[in-house]
Amino acid sequence: MAFNILVVDDSDTMRAVIKKTVLMSGVQIGEFCEACNGKAALEILEEMWIDVVLSDINMPVMGGVDFLREVKKDAVLKNIPVIFISTESSQARMDEVVSLGAAGYVKKPFMPAKIREVLVDVLNKAYATRMAEEGSGAAPVAEEQSDF
Ligand SMILES: [Mg+2]
Repeated sequence: MAFNILVVDDSDTMRAVIKKTVLMSGVQIGEFCEACNGKAALEILEEMWIDVVLSDINMPVMGGVDFLREVKKDAVLKNIPVIFISTESSQARMDEVVSLGAAGYVKKPFMPAKIREVLVDVLNKAYATRMAEEGSGAAPVAEEQSDF
């Protein structure tokens, strides 16, 4: 099964790096979407089905924490896993996003393998039921497809 992924970051370069990392991870990608802040990300979520969000925290207009708050307020969107990828590393901020319901956390600068590890873990937890219902019985990631 393929997953629709949304990457949210105000840095074009960082979005490109994350996209490359995800494409190399072996996770099957359906649509790959990008947004430069939380507000733009919410607009994309209203328009199309996204399976997992990889989001920065510090962004203009709407940052990642406010974005997560909005997602969790919405009856339809609240179950979409949001993984943060950020330079923010204070324990207070980490505790805050975990209490708000973040699905995972990766610190920048990151190793590609770390993104893959967290992404696969989150997808396996979030979509085990759906994968079982579809009867594929297959893991979302084929190990041999990883380039790491
Ligand atoms: Mg940023």
